[in-house]
Amino acid sequence: MDINDSVEKLPFVGQTFAKRLAKLNIRTIQDLINYFPFRYDNYSLISKVIRVQAGETVTIKAKVESIKNEYTKLGKKIQKATVSDNTGSIEIVWFNQPFLIKTIKVGEWYNFSGKADWFGKKIVLVSPEYEPLKLSTIHTGRLVPVYPETQNITSKWLRSRIKTALDIVGNQIEEFLPPVIVQKENLLEEKQAIFQIHFPNDLPAAQRARQRLAFDELLLIQLTGLLRKKEWQKRQLANKFFVDQEKVLEFVGKLPFELTGAQKKAIKEILADLAKEKPMNRLLQGDVGSGKTVVAAIAMYISFLNGFQSVIMAPTEILANQHFQTLKTILFPFGINIELITGSQKLTSNPRYLTPDIIVGTHALLYQNFGQKVGLVVIDEQHRFGVEQRSELIKKFILPNKKIPHLLTMTATPIPRTIALTLYGDLDFSILDEMPFGRTKVKTWVVPPQKRSSAYEWIKKRVKGTQEQAFIVCPLIEQSETLASLKAATIEFEKLKNIFPDLRLGLLHGKMKSKEKDKIIEEFRKGNLDILVSTPVVEVGIDIPNATIMMIEGADRFGLAQLHQLRGRVGRSNLESFCLLFTENQNPEVIKRLKYLEDIYVGLRLAEIDLKIRGPGEIYGTKQHGFPDLRVASFLDTALIEKTRKVAEEILNFYTEFLNSKDSPLHKKMEKYKILQVSPN
Ligand code: ADP
Ligand code: MG
Repeated sequence: MDINDSVEKLPFVGQTFAKRLAKLNIRTIQDLINYFPFRYDNYSLISKVIRVQAGETVTIKAKVESIKNEYTKLGKKIQKATVSDNTGSIEIVWFNQPFLIKTIKVGEWYNFSGKADWFGKKIVLVSPEYEPLKLSTIHTGRLVPVYPETQNITSKWLRSRIKTALDIVGNQIEEFLPPVIVQKENLLEEKQAIFQIHFPNDLPAAQRARQRLAFDELLLIQLTGLLRKKEWQKRQLANKFFVDQEKVLEFVGKLPFELTGAQKKAIKEILADLAKEKPMNRLLQGDVGSGKTVVAAIAMYISFLNGFQSVIMAPTEILANQHFQTLKTILFPFGINIELITGSQKLTSNPRYLTPDIIVGTHALLYQNFGQKVGLVVIDEQHRFGVEQRSELIKKFILPNKKIPHLLTMTATPIPRTIALTLYGDLDFSILDEMPFGRTKVKTWVVPPQKRSSAYEWIKKRVKGTQEQAFIVCPLIEQSETLASLKAATIEFEKLKNIFPDLRLGLLHGKMKSKEKDKIIEEFRKGNLDILVSTPVVEVGIDIPNATIMMIEGADRFGLAQLHQLRGRVGRSNLESFCLLFTENQNPEVIKRLKYLEDIYVGLRLAEIDLKIRGPGEIYGTKQHGFPDLRVASFLDTALIEKTRKVAEEILNFYTEFLNSKDSPLHKKMEKYKILQVSPN
């Protein structure tokens, strides 16, 4: 039997089970032995019958003297057995497993593993696992692996099948790492690791196995990222831009503000990339309001000076519109031509051939034909676009001479370093970790429920008849805008109209037509509305300088970094600004988590806290496309992530034969891994 054969070839895996296994992505025998336990029952304490103590979890080796079904007063069936060894005898009880009297044979010897407890006046073993005495046991008398019980597959069944699989194909498990690395990193051999994670000799051995497999998992992710980076840089050429420093200085001098140190550094890094033949693939990360747009604008200006077009893609029409307005203001004085393309706003000039210097748009850009002069592509809020969409967009611009544009992606989503290294291993990073001078901190409070009405009074006072305005964000019902959240928003809106009868309120939600959305936002921007009630999904990136209050309902449903992003919608001028967080959930842990926002104002720090408390999925609010679920390793394991990154680089630089040769186990492993990566979950 081959390790790559279908699981169905294994004894006792019929069609039915094969189907169930397929739901767990287990198709081959190899997949099966790569399905790992999440914990162990420790049945390794082996005791003579006479020494069994109440409260301890033990294994006894004993002969069955008798076994029978009994009925309780309530009509339930219990199974009682008496078993003995040469030191004495003990009773065993099971509940509701009448078949046991047939499977457990009187006069035979078994291992019984379970908890001993008082039953009336006697010590008995309660519902133990049992297994006929053999040389090597798997359900008793050792550390017993426990697998997640899903899809109608029990842990016990899996345990038996995996044992059989290991017996049959275990010797086909290949070491796929260069031996030098296994040795240097003091890793368990791959085969050892697989055997030991299922059936460990002891807990330290299980731990070492887990370490090796966590190493594998992170290493494969890193290698994939680095390979993607290498391919990007090796095969493809960009248009090397001439960067005219004098023009850059002139441009910067004409800005109405002084750039922050972080902006200057990012600009330097980006301009250095643009001057190279290798296409740039850089992620610009910075909290809302840190000034990413102007950084991108300078890059687009350089592209323009070199005779190339730039394209900037935003995730929503509102944002595209906003970029359009901002860029027009910044770049118009330099004679730069900008056009907007969104689903609702088709290009005004010649629709088949785009000639403006800068094209701003949404996804609609993906369906547009471009000329051959695109030298720079900027993607805003890149985490909203999947990896495929990114490469899809880039493909549109591959020129006949195989050159591709430089790519700058921007995000306000803080990405902790460990995630950056694994998830975005193919990107270079620039970080705006500094706010423009003079920005005031948005005062933040977690407001207790009893203060709700005074909070409403306070909001009324601040916004009525003043230039100040408020956002009220409805609770997050589901991660994508659904009818449920729309309904919640509408109800909230009606309620608020009653609370603020003499204020002007507007409602914004994702199901509105983009014209209507724009209209509402425009009204709000002009100051014709005092309060904008909004669902959470339309939040990103709206820039309203007079908005000073951000009130968030159901704050506990958001990740900290998400709340931080919402809070970034206010405090965009020199007006004192406030963020009020409301939650029905008064669990102290929940309140404690939210209170981090009162003291911490760096998105990255908040993201790291969220990563610890709620896990990686939460940083992004939703399980993002392409976000790998780590099975063994953890995004919190900074040391291992840094180490595997180094090793991945080492392999790429010094052990290429392990990657390239078709028969190499590492090559095969990578191929398999790639398939797993692209297949839908
Ligand atoms: P984001 O990083 O959220 O995209 P923007 O680029 O929209 O931020 O910038 C937010 C606001 O700050 C804009 O009005 C922009 O003109 C302004 N801005 C950018 N950089 C600076 C700076 N160095 N000093 C003052 N204001 C700045
Ligand atoms: Mg922005």
